[in-house]
Amino acid sequence: MPTYVGSCYCNEITYKITLSSPDEARTSICHCRNCRKWFGSAYGITTKIPLSSLQITSGTTTKHESDNGSGTNLFREFCGTCGSGILEYGEHAKGEWRYVTYGTLDEKGQEELKPKGEFFCKSRREWVQPVPGAFQKREIKE
Ligand SMILES: [Zn+2]
Ligand SMILES: [Zn+2]
Repeated sequence: MPTYVGSCYCNEITYKITLSSPDEARTSICHCRNCRKWFGSAYGITTKIPLSSLQITSGTTTKHESDNGSGTNLFREFCGTCGSGILEYGEHAKGEWRYVTYGTLDEKGQEELKPKGEFFCKSRREWVQPVPGAFQKREIKE
């Protein structure tokens, strides 16, 4: 079973993901305003995994909960010491899925779990090119 490890910037929080196959994960980019704000970047990039596959191996995340104008409750988890975002998920995904911030995955995860799609492309900055071969959706992220 493929396992992937990752950590925040300061290494206080570490995690491990155990999948039955790499296809169980789906990395995607999101160009929405909330993702840009939270990532502090031109877009957000996360890897969707089953909640049951994730184990936090050290540290405890700090949690933020708000609908932030989206109309649905959004959860963000980050390192309270260095500020790295670690996890995000919406109200309906809460019991089943986690979106792990792609940049916190160690090399093997980033190498093997490449982006499969993009969401909220209507908000894409005009200088950001579409990822070749990835699906492009104008809006919704489930
Ligand atoms: Zn940290
Ligand atoms: Zn988004």
